[in-house]
Amino acid sequence: MTSERTHTTPAFTQPAADDRRHTAEPDPLGPVAVLLRDLRTSPTGLSTREATARARVHGPNVLVRRQRSTWPRQIVRQLTHPLALLLWAAMALSAFAAMYPITWAVLVVIIVNATFAFVQEQQAERAVEALQAFLPITATVLRDGKPITIAAAQLYPGDVIIVSEGDRISADARLLDGAVEIDLSALTGESQPVMRVAHAHTGHVPLLESRDVVFSGTSCTQGDARAVVFATGMSTQIGRIAALSEGIRRTSSPLELQVRRVAWIITAVAVISGAAFVPLAMFATGLPPTDAVMLSIGLIVGNVPEGLLPVITLALAGGVRQLARHGAIVKRLSAVETLGSTSVICTDKTGTLTENRMEAVQAWSPATGSFSCDTPPQHMLQQTRDLARALAYCTNAELGTDAPDRGDPTEIGLLYAARMLGWDASSPRDHSHQSRRALFHFDPVLKLMSTVDQVGDVLMVHTKGAPESVLERCDISDEVSDAARRFLHDAAGTGLRVLAIAQRPIDRIPADRRDAEQSLQLLGLIALHDPPRPEVAAAVVACHTAGIRIIMVTGDHPVTAAAIAQQIGIVGMTPRVVTEHELDDMPETELDALLASDAELVFARSTPEAKLRIASSLESQHCVVAMTGDGVNDAPALRRADIGIAMGASGTDVAREAATVVLADDNFATIVSAIHMGRVIYANIRKFIVYIFAHLTPEIVPFLVFALSGGSIPLPLTIMQLLAFDVGTETLPALALGREPAEPGILTQPPRPAGQQLVQTPMLLRAWLFLGVIAATLQMAAYLHVLLRAGWSPGDDVSVGSALHHTYMQATTVTFLSMVAAQIGTAYAARTDRASIRQVGVLSNPLLLWGIAFEVAIAAAFVSIPPLQQVLGTALPDPIDLAIIASFPIIVWGADEVRKLLIRRHVRRSELRQPS
Ligand code: ADP
Ligand code: MG
Repeated sequence: MTSERTHTTPAFTQPAADDRRHTAEPDPLGPVAVLLRDLRTSPTGLSTREATARARVHGPNVLVRRQRSTWPRQIVRQLTHPLALLLWAAMALSAFAAMYPITWAVLVVIIVNATFAFVQEQQAERAVEALQAFLPITATVLRDGKPITIAAAQLYPGDVIIVSEGDRISADARLLDGAVEIDLSALTGESQPVMRVAHAHTGHVPLLESRDVVFSGTSCTQGDARAVVFATGMSTQIGRIAALSEGIRRTSSPLELQVRRVAWIITAVAVISGAAFVPLAMFATGLPPTDAVMLSIGLIVGNVPEGLLPVITLALAGGVRQLARHGAIVKRLSAVETLGSTSVICTDKTGTLTENRMEAVQAWSPATGSFSCDTPPQHMLQQTRDLARALAYCTNAELGTDAPDRGDPTEIGLLYAARMLGWDASSPRDHSHQSRRALFHFDPVLKLMSTVDQVGDVLMVHTKGAPESVLERCDISDEVSDAARRFLHDAAGTGLRVLAIAQRPIDRIPADRRDAEQSLQLLGLIALHDPPRPEVAAAVVACHTAGIRIIMVTGDHPVTAAAIAQQIGIVGMTPRVVTEHELDDMPETELDALLASDAELVFARSTPEAKLRIASSLESQHCVVAMTGDGVNDAPALRRADIGIAMGASGTDVAREAATVVLADDNFATIVSAIHMGRVIYANIRKFIVYIFAHLTPEIVPFLVFALSGGSIPLPLTIMQLLAFDVGTETLPALALGREPAEPGILTQPPRPAGQQLVQTPMLLRAWLFLGVIAATLQMAAYLHVLLRAGWSPGDDVSVGSALHHTYMQATTVTFLSMVAAQIGTAYAARTDRASIRQVGVLSNPLLLWGIAFEVAIAAAFVSIPPLQQVLGTALPDPIDLAIIASFPIIVWGADEVRKLLIRRHVRRSELRQPS
């Protein structure tokens, strides 16, 4: 078996740690210059050619997984879980009573079940593992002196990486310049971030404590730095730790716990009724105790729902795979279930509802007033030049000459604005890079970003950000301020995003951002157009139809936010817009009341902290909250929400790691289709539970009839036939029900209440008392019909050698085949809950047709192949009986169609009576 490579799965082989001593090992804690020399590299990194050469020496930068030798253990687990142990006990009991055919049959049941469960779990695991490919880990690295983004697997010792806020670090590296805050929790378990600063050399302390080293597997929560890689793959600290650890323990999801509980309840019912059967059979029919015990063992084995959990696991895994194909990568199986019950979506605006393609359309400056960006005024050139320069310097984005543009779309839009204003540098970054003296990152709370740049012989602060934040730090007259605010309101009213730009000449580098961002000169405002995504309006309608509430939580201006929310239909004409100031002053009780009311809410100028408060408040009201986020600061809210959704395209690695779902395309419409898919999968799980439970009645009734008739009606179904039915015929259709298309109506109902149990009483009543009773009636009627037709009367001898024995074998075979036929009808009935089958299409689930074909083939083999006939005590029935049995699926299914019709009528009538 080949070893598999993966970036994150923490079950690993022993590393080849000792190999490192044979090569001249660079000392990561020596002087930086020596380290660079030993690594044969420089602060500008490797060339592409050198990197290719190093790939051969060092291999890819991945954690190598332990060879998959765990499958024997998994099989053992399947054979030893509590329900399997129950079966083993039954087997031992039958061996003890010397009923060897039953002993063997139970063994077959155990093995077939364990194999099925094993295969299903493997498939589920593989589905989840395959998701890794959808979540590539990348790194920014200098190659040939230029920053490029590559797969993290292609990092080698000697590479120089660029680490920025929100990045996951993919190799052990020593800082060359800059300073970063690092979350070391993956290595140390310590969740408090630590500072790592270039040149903060501390000598030979333990590597983890060294103040200028960063590690693979950790993430950068703040700052910017360049660092030289000195260890990759299994040589990294996390590689070593991972090699020692045993791998993660799988925890059970709420759904699994519920299913397990249900399985135990059914098992208890089976065991109690099986045990009760023993005295009943002994006293009523005079059966010898061993026979009575055997019958009860058969009953118990037949009714233990040992296959339920694996079928559900596989259905969830199928859902995960399906979601991934639609652009929603779900990181936990159980999240599929939670997705389906989502009642509130808290969504960002920029990039999720809109395209995040910012295009500057309008601008304003104190000197010129407002103007259109593509026709900047020619007079007053100095002011517009200053504005353009500030835009070009105060940015981390870069316009590509032959490569695509890099960076935050807002900043890219502003760089294009700089160009339109006449800033002619082909790559503004060239200027900013050499002249930048300090950088104060965009802070989502302050809503500001600043740089300190050398402009000629002047040192200049360049600041941009939300107009309110910038204006309050500017030295301007009231008139100018009023004019700026008027422009802001007009532009925001049409949904434009407005940023203000300012500068200040200084004479020394400011100590902190408070010092830098004050007494600014206002240069102007830029209004950016970010069109709503075309598919979002329909998705919003779909949400509202499905009873899902949408709350917009954005950092943008309240007027812009409200305008966009109106344009895409999230709110009507009178939304309630809550700004951060208002939220800050709002006590929790008031926030709770606001969220509990059905007001159309938009939270504007909000901070990541606000998201956390909103999620907590909604949670206390038992809402199931899906919350989007992209920044480092969003991580707590993403963890807090029931479903944290990170942006795959634009988000940070930190947000992606905190989230449960990652959107490949950042699109709101994808969230909605994921919720819909979650609902369908959950409904399908209920469908196959109905299907699997429905056989309980037909399995018990034959034994009850036998016992209650005092044995005058011979046993309608032998134990061997019961076990054959149990293992041979029902799993595949159950799996197929997991792939049912959406039932009409499922997307127009309100979300199911949080905490609702998977198995509901009406489902059980339908399975046991409706479908089950119909099936049992049909099979008993067919059985008695065969006997009576042959001249049997109650009490007649049917034992081996008697005249009626062949008829009796045919009759039990008819019971067996009737059960199979009725189960096919049940499978069809279970396909929908309320809707008519015609609405979903009789042939629309091909997998089910295959499952049924398989079921029929097996049943045919059981009753027609002589060795199997011998074992199961079957005999080929009359053709006329086969014809009768062939109608049973239609009868069961038809009866359920009538039931659904009556329910639909009833629902419609009660809707008419009380129009909502
Ligand atoms: P959103 O929820 O729309 O993504 P953000 O939190 O990203 O909002 O931004 C909030 C506000 O901060 C924006 O409206 C803008 O005024 C300002 N802003 C956004 N990005 C930058 C940036 N790179 N530099 C300066 N200011 C920014
Ligand atoms: Mg944003």
